[in-house]
Amino acid sequence: MKQLEATPPLAIARGEGPWLIDTDGRRYLDAISSWWVNLFGHCNPRINAAIIDQLGIIEHVMLAGATHAPVVELSERLAKLTGLGHAFYGSDGSSATEIALKMSAHYWRNAGQVKKNEFISLKNGYHGETVGALSVTDIPLFKRIYEPLLRHSVQVPTPDARLAEAGESAEAFALRCADALEAHLAEHATTTAAFIVEPLVQGAAGMAMYHPVYLSRARELCDQYRVHLIADEIAVGFGRTGTMFACEQAAIQPDFICLSKGITGGYLPLSAVLTTDAIYAAFYDDATAKGFLHSHSYTGNPLACRAALAVLDIFESDGVIAANRDKSTQFTKILGEVVAHPRVRHFRQCGMIWAFEVAETAADFASHFHRLALAQGVFIRPIGNTVYVMPPYVMEAADITSLTQAILETLAQMETRK
Ligand SMILES: *Cc1c(COP(=O)(O)O)cnc(C)c1O
Repeated sequence: MKQLEATPPLAIARGEGPWLIDTDGRRYLDAISSWWVNLFGHCNPRINAAIIDQLGIIEHVMLAGATHAPVVELSERLAKLTGLGHAFYGSDGSSATEIALKMSAHYWRNAGQVKKNEFISLKNGYHGETVGALSVTDIPLFKRIYEPLLRHSVQVPTPDARLAEAGESAEAFALRCADALEAHLAEHATTTAAFIVEPLVQGAAGMAMYHPVYLSRARELCDQYRVHLIADEIAVGFGRTGTMFACEQAAIQPDFICLSKGITGGYLPLSAVLTTDAIYAAFYDDATAKGFLHSHSYTGNPLACRAALAVLDIFESDGVIAANRDKSTQFTKILGEVVAHPRVRHFRQCGMIWAFEVAETAADFASHFHRLALAQGVFIRPIGNTVYVMPPYVMEAADITSLTQAILETLAQMETRK
């Protein structure tokens, strides 16, 4: 709260495509999609129209003892896209994590394996900040204070390619990390319910990227040791890594997939956990207690579902995944200019995510960079000394060019302060 006095929040009056416009009429490129949620720009006419249409039909009805067309259609379309035919809805990413963790442990209980209730996650992983989700998150800044409230979980080595040894390929390193996962499972499978992982990119860790072979190996190991694989695609789903879902790049199907953020194009809070027939079957019982007793008041909200359906329509009608492939190649060329800067390290890209570290930075690098970039007309917020760009898919090459120039100008201005 005290820091707000020195850096007051930007007062946003309105949005327009990739632009945020403040109350003084100044324009800023939203380089990080408003915390990774926005896909098709602010005030997108097609998503606006869908929500307005739904407002005249039904705004909300409880999804217990009642149902409605938008949630049915969304469930069917998500099932087709993920290959997972059963959906459970929440209102944000953290509750999706909670749902997947609870459902996994409850599955094993229903299957008579009550001891299987521990969770594994990756070092530096992020799965949300409610108490259960924070238990499998591994970001000390968010976690340390609340440690006494949290349930024990185990972190296995991250395949983050930046941590590979000199001369070691990202693939070889990922396989080495998978060996560590296997060593843990070999010893603890009988007490482990699930392994939760951010596929391909660990966002909050600072856009840590890794080789897909880790996921294929993790899938094999989870099958071998009878442990669920939970894919937390809250940040990477909906095209962010270049495929609709990141798991596709490893050709695997998780036991649970958690979706949120981009699901409504950044319009309304909604999350979904999709799972397999086998898990569904374990809850199919006359005994109420064997059912999955978990509820949120706004579960499956019709307005949010309509926004999500509009998002899926745009993906289909505009061939977004293919169009992004071309954009991504083009943007990499433009943003790649930063590599020439002497303090830029580990420039990397995955789909529509770009990131690099800046060496020898002061402790206040992130907030300083953020403020200087604002003056250049760019809304960007580094994580520590990691600068990343995660643009709405409606950005054009010209926007990326001015964004790149603004990043370089910001770095130059920081250089003169030093
Ligand atoms: C953002 C995020 C979450 C939490 O989602 P919220 O909607 O902020 O609760 C969980 N997992 C990942 C990978 C995320 O990026």
